[in-house]
Amino acid sequence: MHNKALTMFDLTGRTAIVTGGAKGIGKGIAANLALAGATVVVADRDTEENIACAQQITNAGGKSTAITCDMSSETEITALVESTISSFGHLDILVNNAAIYPMSPIADMATDMWDEVIRINLRGAFLLTRAAIPALKRSGANGRLINISSIDTWKSYIGMGHYDASKGGIEAFTRSCALELAEFGVTANVIAPGAVKTPGSKTVRNNLARERGESNTDAVDADFATRIPLGRWADADDIGQATLLLATPAAHYITGQTIYVDGGLKLTM
Ligand code: NAP
Repeated sequence: MHNKALTMFDLTGRTAIVTGGAKGIGKGIAANLALAGATVVVADRDTEENIACAQQITNAGGKSTAITCDMSSETEITALVESTISSFGHLDILVNNAAIYPMSPIADMATDMWDEVIRINLRGAFLLTRAAIPALKRSGANGRLINISSIDTWKSYIGMGHYDASKGGIEAFTRSCALELAEFGVTANVIAPGAVKTPGSKTVRNNLARERGESNTDAVDADFATRIPLGRWADADDIGQATLLLATPAAHYITGQTIYVDGGLKLTM
């Protein structure tokens, strides 16, 4: 009985790609998928950290490899899928996590900044999904597309117009994927994180602290935590574990959904 329950959360034999997997949330996702037995391809543009992440997973007894991939390059995205299939024979789980979030008020936003955010966050996810679809279809009921959006799709922030557009796009795109992939048994869902301590959010928190004349982010972090019903910022593992749930056999009937993993933040915004 107990063993049967465990098989519902077992990813042994599955191959996953996690984009932006070298740091932050992506690293937490990669580690958790590997814990459940998946072979994880960590796909990040930061080659050094990418290799280090795959090595950490391997050192911990998991299966992982690093493939450098810049999500703004169609050539590299195509090569990522080809290389994954040629190394492991199949691709079952795709997690589109890589994204950037430079801040700028819309009135001052350079066209290049808008284009870069959309190119990486939205176009990159489309290109990789399209390249992965034949393999996901072959994977059938084991096939999982999991895209990472943001609490920003619930409530926007000043300076994030490009990012919010990309994340709203990701959610709508994922619903279309869910419809098109359902007949093959493949599910497509979104994880929308709330406030997560990562290298990327550290830059944003540093900027906020500087604007307040503070030398570190302690007060900014503490103030924001008071708005989160569970009382603390998330870490990468919190998001990794939720992503793992969607990747498992136990989640086979969940599709087309956006799941906020935010400690209840959405309730207070
Ligand atoms: P992060 O700390 O900046 O890590 C993102 C990783 O993705 C970095 O290694 C980054 O490399 C890589 N990356 C960026 N652009 C890439 C590209 N073109 N190709 C390949 N890799 C690329 O970010 P994070 O905070 O973990 O965010 C991860 C995801 O969660 C994003 O989708 C983000 O929108 C979402 N999210 C985060 C939060 C939060 O509070 N942190 C909240 C809601 C949603 P570089 O270091 O070279 O840029």
